[in-house]
Amino acid sequence: MTNLRTARVTQDRTLDLPRAKLVERVDYTDDLMVIKLEPQDLDFNFNPGQYCTLGLEGIERAYSIVSAPHEPLLEIFVELVPDGQLTPLMWQMGTGDTMSIRPGPKGIFVMDPTVNQHLMLGTVTGTAPFVSIVRDHLHYNRSGHHFYILEGASYVDEFVYDTELLDLSAAHPDVVTFVPAISRPNEARNAAWEGETGRLNAIVAKYLHQFKLDQSDTLVYACGHPGMIEGSREIVAGEGWKWTEERFWKE
Ligand SMILES: Cc1cc2nc3c(=O)[nH]c(=O)nc-3n(C[C@H](O)[C@H](O)[C@H](O)COP(=O)(O)OP(=O)(O)OC[C@H]3O[C@@H](n4cnc5c(N)ncnc54)[C@H](O)[C@@H]3O)c2cc1C
Repeated sequence: MTNLRTARVTQDRTLDLPRAKLVERVDYTDDLMVIKLEPQDLDFNFNPGQYCTLGLEGIERAYSIVSAPHEPLLEIFVELVPDGQLTPLMWQMGTGDTMSIRPGPKGIFVMDPTVNQHLMLGTVTGTAPFVSIVRDHLHYNRSGHHFYILEGASYVDEFVYDTELLDLSAAHPDVVTFVPAISRPNEARNAAWEGETGRLNAIVAKYLHQFKLDQSDTLVYACGHPGMIEGSREIVAGEGWKWTEERFWKE
């Protein structure tokens, strides 16, 4: 193990990259945390919806940015993949530790301003780009757009951004509509749940019509779990709605 770790560090091609310092960490479940990073000696400019590339010991992965560009820290919502390479290392991090960060943001999964209605499907960490887009929109007091966010999770404690999104939808009902849905309503962990149930691909058709969206003025975004994306795309694109997606991993 030591030899493997030494070899990894020796081959670490990220040693010359800028660093980002962990200044805050909140664990929501055993495998979900939100971290806030402060890029060191780096102006990290991005568009809401884009992702950054973070690394430890030469292992780099993409992470969608939850924070909006006007916020001083980069906020990232991470799920632990127990057999993964990077996330178990991230779980050992504490405040003051640093990660490598590629200097430029990436991604084209950003808000399309040519339509006014945005139906956003996200599974757990897949909600990250939508939170950034909505925070940015409200910060600049922009008008004319409505964001309908459907978030799917197995368990109620995995939503994490539900309080923020419910508060925003109450304060700005013409801008934000938020529906969290639980896919395993019969499990004890969800006993207190009284909201929507079912996987997003099973309920998306219902909401497309319930929200009375105009097909020519709507884009449907899907982010996160590839199974949700595949299943939803079949239904949504099949009905002729405009579609864009960001898959966090391949199945
Ligand atoms: C554009 C983009 C944005 C992303 N944004 C985020 C984000 O905001 N938050 C976040 O937690 N992750 C995000 N990811 C996933 C992230 O890049 C890593 O793949 C993930 O953290 C696992 O890294 P790892 O090195 O621990 O696992 P790896 O060693 O890369 O192994 C991952 C393997 O586990 C499987 N797997 C099971 N569950 C997951 C899962 N939840 N994520 C990835 N792989 C899984 C996959 O089959 C994959 O082959 C994003 C990915 C992309 C492409």
